[in-house]
Amino acid sequence: MPREARYDILFEPLAIGPVTAKNRFYQVPHCNGGGYRDPSAAAEMRRVKAEGGWGVIFTEQCEIHHSSEITPYIELRIWEDQDLPMLARMADAIHEHGALAGIELAYPGVNGPNLYTKEVPMAPTALPIRTFTNDPVQARAMDREDIRDLRRWHRIAFERAKQCGFDIVCLYGAHGFGVIQHFLSTATNQRSDEYGGSLENRARLMRELVSDAKDVIGDQCAVALRLSLEESVRDLGFSNAELRDLIEMHGDLPDIWDLAHGAWEDCSGPSRFKEEAAQQELVSGIKALTPKPVVGVGRFTSPDVMVKQINTGVLDFIGCARPSIADPYLPKKVEEGRVEDIRECIGCNMCITGDMTMSISRCTQNPTFMEEWRKGWHPERITPKGGSETVLVVGAGPAGLEAARALGLRGYTVAVAEAGEDIGGRVARECRLPGLSAWGRVADYRRYQLSQAANVDIYLNSRLDADQVLEFGFEHVVIATGAHWRRDGVARQHVVPLPIDPKMPLYTPDDIMDGTLPTGRVVLFDDDHYYMGGVVAECLARNGAEVTLVTPAAYVSEWTNNTLEQAAIHSRLAELGVSIELNRGVEAIGPDAVTTACVYSGQQRNLSADAVVLVTSRQQDDSLWQGLKARQSEWDGAGIKSIKVIGDAQAPGPIAWATYAGHRYARELDTPNNTDAPSFRREVAALAD
Ligand code: ADP
Ligand code: SF4
Repeated sequence: MPREARYDILFEPLAIGPVTAKNRFYQVPHCNGGGYRDPSAAAEMRRVKAEGGWGVIFTEQCEIHHSSEITPYIELRIWEDQDLPMLARMADAIHEHGALAGIELAYPGVNGPNLYTKEVPMAPTALPIRTFTNDPVQARAMDREDIRDLRRWHRIAFERAKQCGFDIVCLYGAHGFGVIQHFLSTATNQRSDEYGGSLENRARLMRELVSDAKDVIGDQCAVALRLSLEESVRDLGFSNAELRDLIEMHGDLPDIWDLAHGAWEDCSGPSRFKEEAAQQELVSGIKALTPKPVVGVGRFTSPDVMVKQINTGVLDFIGCARPSIADPYLPKKVEEGRVEDIRECIGCNMCITGDMTMSISRCTQNPTFMEEWRKGWHPERITPKGGSETVLVVGAGPAGLEAARALGLRGYTVAVAEAGEDIGGRVARECRLPGLSAWGRVADYRRYQLSQAANVDIYLNSRLDADQVLEFGFEHVVIATGAHWRRDGVARQHVVPLPIDPKMPLYTPDDIMDGTLPTGRVVLFDDDHYYMGGVVAECLARNGAEVTLVTPAAYVSEWTNNTLEQAAIHSRLAELGVSIELNRGVEAIGPDAVTTACVYSGQQRNLSADAVVLVTSRQQDDSLWQGLKARQSEWDGAGIKSIKVIGDAQAPGPIAWATYAGHRYARELDTPNNTDAPSFRREVAALAD
């Protein structure tokens, strides 16, 4: 099908300095948890995006010099010639399908603790290093000689980037991560020389670096400036008004302005706190200040919103990181008139945790992300089925739905049996909680895909037992029956059930999702530490309850530090009047009070309560699996070759674990199973001489 005419503007080529992008889909730099440790995996991930139609594709942040690096986080490096082959592989991969290859060069400065190189960090002003981990390291102030060195190191990096084949070199000065922002900001630049004070002075290094880049590589490569749209550190920082003044003064300095929020947490806000196009107000009007194109982000997944950004003169290029992760083929789907096939990002920020935990990124919606090279998984293609024909999927949550979708694509005849009235499992329930409506896209995308598959049938209101499964005689059965929240307090603090008086009304997140909400004084015990405790506290407080959240952790919803939303969650709960008791566990639940204790001193206190909500851990709903396993001797006679359990029914985890499990099951059906070796390729560094 041809694309709809109203999307034509998205496919108009546009020049960026000496190079031309074939369309307006601009994949801005994004981390992936692989970086220099997994360069082939990162290169293949970018190649697939080029195939999916993105006009511009960037690497993640690439550190230009060994005197500034952000260990433990794993990004890229262009320190020496020996770094070039891995970067050239990325540029080549991006070029294979006609995209422009961009590299984001960064000198982290006051953001780089140098834990690996052990060099003394340098910054515009001597200050403690500003990172997520509050490292006990301070930077010294750069003098004029250091600034001359810094410019020379940049020139060497520009030359190397060109040598690797990159078309666009981006100077990073946003998110608090690049030295250009540190010079521009009155918070991190308190100098009194010609590099400090007035905006003109604070912008001097930026001007020098851009003009050096133009000198060195400007004939062949475009130079992008990625600046902060707004940064505030108490009364200091780099405001949106200053950014506008700066662009007005130096509008034609770079070949393109790439504008992103001042802190990464603001820029990559999850859907719970930020809408699509959330930065529009900060960007609007900037295009009129410069003759050069402007790119900006906003978790854009709707082509109509994208078109509006261009037609109303807000942006020239549609910058996307997360939407390109959730659907590397987004541009191609718009181009081919298949908008309904777009796998929309749900804004959960699970992808960011790969970087924050230095592991490798996952995407809730796209289980193939970062597995393109490791496992040879392509987001849009899958090998045809093996020797068997029929598969029964039990349970239509994220695991079962993704298994059914991918099995259907492989050509199996698939039946999905779901006990409930609708598909979606946990996402259908969780998306009704405050701020989580976009999570419903996990089911929406799969619902539509399955409706298009003639070989997949869904049976609702069909709770199966072991007898039925054995009677049906499918060749393969996959059990994805999910999990429920425990009522006995077992999690991390209590590995055996907690003493609970039966007179105390007790709730779990399942009750809340079923619409049964406690009122009055509610104590919520969070020993789960991801989003659920904070979301349920918000839900109850909005419903008028007087909520006290007790957690043994030092943070509310501690693991959401990795999804960049922890501070927003705490602020929201504080605004709603939720009382927060950190570093406290629950010792016992009495008839009208909860005994809590400090995790350090053991000092106890009683909290009067009308009800208690336990957000502790989940128990797998695997009775069907256990029942069938006990009758393994009957499988053969019933014509069953295999029965497997996946997703939350095997071991509860985040939604991304379930979609991955479903996808993996489908990919591996009818393939040899060797558990003696990893199921993915690894890149093992060669030993130096
Ligand atoms: P996951 O995250 O692993 O996909 P969910 O809890 O989201 O798990 O989904 C599990 C789904 O399985 C739920 O929709 C539930 O209604 C369904 N289910 C549970 N037991 C059965 C059963 N015996 N037969 C059919 N469906 C079941
Ligand atoms: Fe979007 Fe979540 Fe996937 Fe990240 S992990 S791209 S936020 S769906």
